[in-house]
Amino acid sequence: MSLAQPPKEFTGINQEVNTPKTAVGWPAIYSSVKHVFGAMPVARGIKTLLNLNQKDGIDCPSCAWPDPDGHRSSIGEFCENGAKAIADEATTKKAGPVFFQRYSVKEMAEKSDFWLGQQGRLTHPMLVREGDTHYKKIEWKDAFDIVAKELNTLSLPDEAVFYTSGRSSNEAAFLYQLFIRAYGTNNLPDCSNMCHESSGVALTETLGLGKGSVTLDDFEEAEVIIIMGQNPGTNHPRLLTTLEKAKKKGAKIISINPLFETGLLGFKNPQTMEGLLGKGTTLTDLYLQIKINGDLALLKAACKVLIEKGAIDNEFIKSNTENVEEFLAQFSKVSIENLLEDAGIKQEEFETFCSILEKNSKIIVCWAMGLTQHKNSVATIKEVVNLLLLKGSIGKPGAGTCPVRGHSNVQGDRTVGIMHKPSAAFNETIETNFGFTPPQHHGYDVVEAIEAMYEQKAKVFFALGGNFLSASPDTEYTAQALKNCNLTVQVSTKLNRSHLIHGKTALILPCLGRTDKDFQKSGEQFVSTENSMGVVQKSQGVLEPLSDEMMSEPAIIAQVAHATLGEKYKIDWLSYANDYALIRKDIEKTIAGFKAYEERINKSGGFYLPNQPREGNFNTKTGKAQFSVNPWEPINVKPNEYLMMTIRSHDQFNTTVYGLNDRYRGIFNERRIVFMHPADMLKDAFKNYDKVNIINEFEGVRRIAEAFIIVPYNIPQGCLATYFPEANVLVPLKSRADGSQTPTSKSVVVRLEKI
Ligand code: SF4
Repeated sequence: MSLAQPPKEFTGINQEVNTPKTAVGWPAIYSSVKHVFGAMPVARGIKTLLNLNQKDGIDCPSCAWPDPDGHRSSIGEFCENGAKAIADEATTKKAGPVFFQRYSVKEMAEKSDFWLGQQGRLTHPMLVREGDTHYKKIEWKDAFDIVAKELNTLSLPDEAVFYTSGRSSNEAAFLYQLFIRAYGTNNLPDCSNMCHESSGVALTETLGLGKGSVTLDDFEEAEVIIIMGQNPGTNHPRLLTTLEKAKKKGAKIISINPLFETGLLGFKNPQTMEGLLGKGTTLTDLYLQIKINGDLALLKAACKVLIEKGAIDNEFIKSNTENVEEFLAQFSKVSIENLLEDAGIKQEEFETFCSILEKNSKIIVCWAMGLTQHKNSVATIKEVVNLLLLKGSIGKPGAGTCPVRGHSNVQGDRTVGIMHKPSAAFNETIETNFGFTPPQHHGYDVVEAIEAMYEQKAKVFFALGGNFLSASPDTEYTAQALKNCNLTVQVSTKLNRSHLIHGKTALILPCLGRTDKDFQKSGEQFVSTENSMGVVQKSQGVLEPLSDEMMSEPAIIAQVAHATLGEKYKIDWLSYANDYALIRKDIEKTIAGFKAYEERINKSGGFYLPNQPREGNFNTKTGKAQFSVNPWEPINVKPNEYLMMTIRSHDQFNTTVYGLNDRYRGIFNERRIVFMHPADMLKDAFKNYDKVNIINEFEGVRRIAEAFIIVPYNIPQGCLATYFPEANVLVPLKSRADGSQTPTSKSVVVRLEKI
């Protein structure tokens, strides 16, 4: 097996699988303390935690769940996974030149992702050339010269690819896109291509804006909150506090998920006596354990019942929407029975679901990857919108759409220009403001960039954060694509597998993190981010950087731009690094909604960007919200095959592995797991903990994920779940969501082979 995948060693599951019924509570406090004080001295840990998510403090580098506009808990405005993210970044461990002398690239690649992440902060720029076995320290100037030389040697700017991870700040992202467009390409793939791109496409086409419409306050007014394809207990934990508050205000919570996720069942709020000493709050009122990818079928069935029952908002539909006739006409050919069969939902559960929807109109639908990473994801999210439009649940308090972003500034990056398909209007503004004509043709998204590198159409890969290799699908194909490059550059805080599977020449450029103080020529700097509800807020580090050799993301980009483009345009790249207010000034004059940016960002708590659907306005071609007809077709799975979804464990954030446990699913000390229904195990003669290989043969290409153990679990029959990045090798690059090209990581057809 190549070194592109995590090693196939078992670490040894060491407990019977037993899933708790409530999330958070004392175990979360214990876990937070263990991670934070295990990574740094107590004083440093306390200082960091006390500033986390405070106004004018550090914006959590993990998910994008918003902070309260008003009061924020002074003892802890963060969750366990926020604490883990901080421990991971603010650790005092260092992976410097001595470390890289000790371990060859191959030796590091033979280690687990958990081990790689535990080696500490990257402290110096490092270089490895073709034939070298070890990374060696390099001076920053020399590193920038190597990048500039490679970029300026390419025959076309489109032979370079510039990736962005969702951690990059607005300032770094805006400067990055400006440099890349001045350089001459729109090859700006970003992590949202692999996560909420389907949401952006569906919401833009139906409501005119690719973002959610609700605010945090809406949850306290909602009558019904539906959580689809999302596991907030692990991926957006402070949503549980919001759900508890909504529940206390009388909201009904409906969870739709193939797994019974502990975080959706019960919540012990560690900031309340009840949570610490009592039995906590039961969250979900109705749990629909849907089959993988059954969401569209269920939503369509519910729409049909609401229409037949007349439980719809005709006035809203008449004055705010379009295409309702085509939408209604389709239902004469729709069989609810077949849809429920495909969704795996029983009639009586469905009737309860519909009766709750019939009686209420303040409905919020939240979703994450469980809806966005399927071939029909755009259609499914459009069906979510259809349901909300039928109920008039858009553009009023307590109602609307809530795609919950998994990375702290992934929404902000897109807002400030990280997009491979810029609009003509955006290009005109760039030309007017910066005096150069940006490229008009669309660039590569993630899957296209991987193909271009594999086919050697692209020869330079530059990543601003992230772990591209491990986050991407089709690991072996992606690995070859990266190896084909002349140069790969990773701007990173921590060591990961993308540093070890690299181009002929590879650079690691160590950057400051959110927790680090950032001093530039004009003084101490802060950056800004945008959360899932469109709030732009300040983030300022409080810790002395571990090394003088680390540079901030904006400073690295300014230096690369200066080295590559020099005086080619009337843009003083280096001045941007001296004072980030200059970047914000240019964001203000280039991107809508940032008027008086500097003044408003310095106001505690930041500011909301405009959101037309929130106000009941729809920036579509006709100014009306769009009903859509979304045909339903179940995925064809043969008798000996299963539909597999890749998931995160509770000790993981994206591809960063904080530990080997998945406490809420009762899994301890093992990641090479296949979650399988006991009846399926019986049917295929598998016993608990049998060892298997997992095989995918999409379009005749055999992909194999070796050495997993089977764990009996409450998952719908015919469905399996595995962790990524271990199972990403099985996700075919060519299997993508229609309309958004998001890899279909949540519905991969596989079969199991006993070993
Ligand atoms: S909910 Fe998300 S943003 Fe908030 S502290 Fe937890 S991980 Fe960080």
